[in-house]
Amino acid sequence: MQVLKFGGTSVANAEAMLQVIEIVGKALEYDRTIVVTSAISGCTDTLVEIGRKASAGDASCFEVLRDLKQRHHDVIDELLPSGYRERTTDAVNALFAALENTVQGVLLLGELSPRSLEAIESFGELFSSRILTDKFLSLGVACHWLDARQIVRTTAGQADQKTTYRNVRAAVDAHVQTELFVVPGFIASDAEGHPTTLGRGGSDYTASLFAVGIHARRVEIWTDVPGIMTANPKVVPTARPIPNISYRAAQELSHFGAKVIYPPTIQPVVEEGIPIYVKDTFHPDEPGTLVEKNPPRVRDGVTGIAYSDRIALISLEGSGMVGVPGFSSRLFDALSREGINIILITQASSVHSMCIAVAETDAERARSAADNCFAYEISLGKINPLKVETGYSIVCVIGDDILGHSGATGMMLAALGRHSIPVRATAQGSSERNISVIVPSGRAQEAIRAIHHEFFDRFSTRVIHLFIAGYGRVGKALVKMLHDNAEAIARRSGKELRVCGLANSRHYVINTEGIDLSRAGEILSEGPSGSYPDALCSLSPENAVFVDCTANDEIGFRYPDLFHSGYSVVACNKIPFSGTLAQFRNLQREAKRSGVSLRYETTAGAALPVLVTLDRVVQSGDTLVRMDAVLSGTLNYLMDNYKGTGFEDLVEEARIKGYTEPDPNIDLSGVDVLRKILILSR
Ligand code: ADP
Ligand code: ASP
Ligand code: MG
Repeated sequence: MQVLKFGGTSVANAEAMLQVIEIVGKALEYDRTIVVTSAISGCTDTLVEIGRKASAGDASCFEVLRDLKQRHHDVIDELLPSGYRERTTDAVNALFAALENTVQGVLLLGELSPRSLEAIESFGELFSSRILTDKFLSLGVACHWLDARQIVRTTAGQADQKTTYRNVRAAVDAHVQTELFVVPGFIASDAEGHPTTLGRGGSDYTASLFAVGIHARRVEIWTDVPGIMTANPKVVPTARPIPNISYRAAQELSHFGAKVIYPPTIQPVVEEGIPIYVKDTFHPDEPGTLVEKNPPRVRDGVTGIAYSDRIALISLEGSGMVGVPGFSSRLFDALSREGINIILITQASSVHSMCIAVAETDAERARSAADNCFAYEISLGKINPLKVETGYSIVCVIGDDILGHSGATGMMLAALGRHSIPVRATAQGSSERNISVIVPSGRAQEAIRAIHHEFFDRFSTRVIHLFIAGYGRVGKALVKMLHDNAEAIARRSGKELRVCGLANSRHYVINTEGIDLSRAGEILSEGPSGSYPDALCSLSPENAVFVDCTANDEIGFRYPDLFHSGYSVVACNKIPFSGTLAQFRNLQREAKRSGVSLRYETTAGAALPVLVTLDRVVQSGDTLVRMDAVLSGTLNYLMDNYKGTGFEDLVEEARIKGYTEPDPNIDLSGVDVLRKILILSR
């Protein structure tokens, strides 16, 4: 047998459900099938909202309930043919009536106990599974609905696996002729028969419990993404599906926030070695991900990146800790008695302080547990009251044998360093599959993108994001070149040079999807005013190059900020390179430190590769004896053409021909020549 589980988006509306029907139809050609379904997307959230509103005495909960009912009726009306539609409508109405009673009770009592909340939450999967069952029946597919509440048993908030397996077997064995079963996911009941749930996202777990119960051949998790991906695609647009992953790595990814699989799902199937396929309901032909025991190895051992928000850091510190054993075990005991899960631990060998991460929701309980536990030492001043800091996220790089490959930690920290993302704590997980860092939540998504780029995108870069400053003569010419030659550039280099930012002294415009270069000037004039470098630093995209086509004397001071945000810089602006030697060296140093490039070939030599040639000659051991150069196109032009009168007009002519700096005084005074000499000699 096989188990196919469909998530909320896969049953969100009639159209999606039809897709499900098609997938199940094909699956039935191979084997008897159990379909586990989630509630329609957003339903469980709405049910929680209804419960909360009711307990707060807010009668608008009934409006929300009405809307939810309407959503289900819309699905029924569109999906089911008449003859079936009425029956299903009645059944779903009866469920809604029962829900309304429960909500009424909560409203009257003004109290939402965990038990009432679970009772309310349970309805979502009852609605959706009922609709799906009736749809199969209407198509003439013999199908049997199984009440998960009679089968999946929980004790003390956890699934009672043994009892559940037994119940699954009994329920299926009672219908030997049945080819297709439909099961509401997520819902269960406790030993006294009260409705409970397996926790948010728990339908995946229902699927794996059923799979083990019937010794299924395979489990398929059908969802709205093409598999388990290298990172959450909603955060990292370049994330890609992981074709094969081990049970352990998948478990680690889901445990640290990859919500595509609910964390407890994998554990039951491991012992039986049942493979899990994660597939995209809306692209069923895509291969998806296979979760199995021994997948093929991956290069540098890294499989994916995950993160969780709302992490609190708890620090225990004090001189009284030095050399006194047992502090950590007392702290862990105190936390474990409170049922608090420790996410990460760091402790230096001095044992003068230690730092642990817990979920923010556990932070206050952790604080009082620890303060009670160490009340005596605190009163003596031997250790300080526990320090709790909130607003952190944990970001993890995960892979089998990740630590067997040297350099993963270094790559991770280097990527964060280049983006100047502060790392508050690090740990190499207790398994050899995980390297974790704690960063401020505000920077977490940027951190994930930077790390993902480091491990997965860096060597397959296809798009270079250009951010051009200066839209005068040079800037315009560059934009025109890029526009006219885009295809040839892509063909020859295999890369797309995408202009994503443009600025002049008044406006700037940023669009990471690319600016329409045929209307560049117009688009720019409609852009906001303000600091372009500031806007860029807060963006910090991957493969980004800042192109300085200005003759501005301030902008060079911003290069280091841009470097730190991951931008390489290409400039024809001479000013940043012809300041003091210390400034010049500082630019080179900062670029190197951030791991980005700094190029200024076009500052001297009329855009011919003079600097790089000189550099190579010198680097390969030759000595430069003398340099002869005509260093000013403007002065050259003037001297060639000046006939004794009309100097001013001639300068204007040179300006129009594009020889001069924006301010020709810079040429006439010799400053421009001076700058070029400096750059060439440096
Ligand atoms: P379903 O309703 O089908 O159970 P979920 O919303 O629970 O779907 O899980 C799928 C979502 O998980 C995706 O839409 C995606 O936003 C999120 N997700 C987070 N991390 C990952 C990852 N590494 N790979 C794929 N999806 C991920
Ligand atoms: N409907 C439940 C939830 O939203 C269970 C699930 O979708 O897996 O959490
Ligand atoms: Mg889910």
